[in-house]
Formats: sequence, structure tokens, C-alpha cells
Amino acid sequence: MIPVSEPLLDGNEKRYLAECIDSGWISSEGPFVAKFEAAFAARLDRAHGVAVCNGTAALEAALYALGVGEGDEVIMPAFTIISCAVAALRLGARPVLVDIDPETWCMDMALVEASLTPRTKVVMPVHIFGHAVDMDPLLRLRERHGFKILEDAAEVHGAEYFSRQLGGRWMKCGAMGDATATSFYANKIVTTGEGGMVLADDAAVAARARSYRNLCFRPERRFYHTEIGYNFRMTNLQAAVGLAQVERIDEFIAMKTRIAAWYRAALGAVPGVRFMQVQPWARSVYWVYAVELDPARGLEAATVMERLKARGVATRPFFLGLHQQPALRERGLFAGATHPRTDHAYRFGFYLPSGLTLTEATVARVVAALREALV
Ligand SMILES: *Cc1c(COP(=O)(O)O)cnc(C)c1O
Repeated sequence: MIPVSEPLLDGNEKRYLAECIDSGWISSEGPFVAKFEAAFAARLDRAHGVAVCNGTAALEAALYALGVGEGDEVIMPAFTIISCAVAALRLGARPVLVDIDPETWCMDMALVEASLTPRTKVVMPVHIFGHAVDMDPLLRLRERHGFKILEDAAEVHGAEYFSRQLGGRWMKCGAMGDATATSFYANKIVTTGEGGMVLADDAAVAARARSYRNLCFRPERRFYHTEIGYNFRMTNLQAAVGLAQVERIDEFIAMKTRIAAWYRAALGAVPGVRFMQVQPWARSVYWVYAVELDPARGLEAATVMERLKARGVATRPFFLGLHQQPALRERGLFAGATHPRTDHAYRFGFYLPSGLTLTEATVARVVAALREALV
């Protein structure tokens, strides 16, 4: 089976892990945590990084840090992982969904304004599959409305966006909003196995995230708490792996980009299959290799994925829309909501093997199998 994802761990990972074991520093108090925070934040052009135990926790800590609480609304795309909604719900806030741009599968910024209410505290653009969200319209809207922006940069480590709004220059995804949450799960470009980080330029936002990560201990009085926080800490072991990974991020992105070119060339000759496109204002890091089937082919993603599996090729489906999630609907959320472009993407989209270990020959095998699966 050609796997859908495989991490590359042959840099300094083992050496740094051995340092943790030899020194006895395995908890979050160890020195790699701060080193990893500084290195990753610097790579994303952010002043502060707060490492946490996973990306879902990072989203929650970031929303908390931006002041989200009971009764607030958080606008997010329907096409995303449930973590985004869960993070809002755990703080007593309500997720509000908008549909996607069918070209990029990212949140359609033209739909945000109509969803704003006096309770909108945060808008959460989620950069999808390595490609930037079109941030400028949102940055302009923020000037008029004063909500905060939390970028979900789990899928775009190192990706960039050309922002006219921010001075006509290439900006890192994750460096444009008021805060950013990211994940270092094993399939992400930089991985710690499980892990996440909150990023911000504002020291006060970072301090609030840091406090939430560690049970909201009061700095001036140990074991005295005036707010509820959680244990979202990252261990020194995870951070050791993360630091070794950040050292190679440029190499990883170059590999991802090369693999994308192989896929693009091979898929060009397969009719009725749209490979992810990169907008002129985006520099993608090609986190995964996503395709969408032309409905005219009369085949849905689920069928083709099943056929690919029978041919030894692992794939992953697209996100099922949050408005379709029973666990959320049962809470009375999204009643009557329709997000047809998200539904369409779920029905016809999936992604192909996307690991860093792919070779040109393997990509050719994948595309040959896809061709057979479409017959
Ligand atoms: C992976 C991912 C997350 C969640 O990260 P975990 O570390 O698995 O909790 C959040 N948002 C997006 C867009 C992701 O892809």
C-alpha cells in the first residue's frame, strides 16, 4: 500500500531526543520547548510562540487569548476539521459557518460580512491543503468592524500570501491575523507526533495563551487561580523532535513542491480530474495533493477512493461540512444551514498519497491507478 503520509525523521531528531533522555529533562520544563517555540515563531515571522499538546488545544488557547467567551460568535469555514468548532464551543462561544471558494476550497471571504453580528468576536480563516486563504478582504473588513482574526495555519507551514492590504508584500500564512493556531500532528509539514502552537505578535495575547496552557496559575501566587485553564503543555521530547524538524522546513517545502510538479504533469493528461490550483497571490506548500472529480464523469470520490485502495493506493476524503456533523447538529447548531460548495467538495474531492518519501516513480504508479479507477 502506498501510504497517504509518512514523516521524515532523519535529521537531528534522534540526537535531540537522546539529549532529553541523558539529561532527564522530559517534561514541559525542558529547554527544547522554548527553543522550538522561538524557532517556529521566527520561521512564521511571529514574535511569540506558545507550544501546546495538539492543534485542537492551540485553537482553544488562541480563542481564549483573544478574549472569546460565553455568548460570543466565531465565524469559520464549513469546510474544516471539527477542532475549529469544538474550540469555540468549549469556551461557550457559537461557531458560525460560511461556505468556501470552490477554486481553493478556502473560506469565501465575500460571505463573511453577511454573517457578522454584534456578537462576532473572532473570524477564523483556515488555510487549506497548503494554500493561503485570500486574506485582504478580511483584513479590510476588520478595519471597519473590529473583530479579531485567528488564522488556522495547521496545513500551511511556510506558505505565503501576497497582501496588498499589508503593504504589497509576501506575508507568511499565520503572520497576518491577531493570533495563529497550528498543529504538529504526524502528517503536518513540521511534526512533533502530537503537538500544536499558538503564535502572536502581541505579548499580552501570548501571555494569556501561556497561562491557559498551564492551568491559569497566577504568576505572583502559586496554586491560586482566578480563571480556569487546562494542562495543554508540550513535553521536551516533542519539542526536541519539533526543533529538528524546523531546521529542515525549507527542504521539506522544496520536496513537497517537487512532488506537486510530478503530480501536476502526470494528472494533466487525465480528463475530468482537477488538481489543486495555486492562485497568483499564493505560494502553496502543497501540504497534500488534492483532486476534485468532474461530476460529469458520473463518479463520486468515495467510489474512486475504494477502487484506489484495491489497487494499493491510500487516499483520504475531504472534510465533511461542519453543518453536516451530527454531534454539532444535535446541539441545535446550524439548523437549516446550507453550504453547497462544501457539500460538493466533500462529494467529489479527496487527496492522493502526500508523504515526503514519494518518488517520481511512485507518483506515476498512483496516477496510473487513478486512471484505471476512473474507467
Ligand atoms: C490537523 C488540523 C487541526 C488539528 O490539529 P490536531 O493537532 O490534530 O489537534 C486543526 N486544524 C486544521 C486545519 C488541521 O488540519
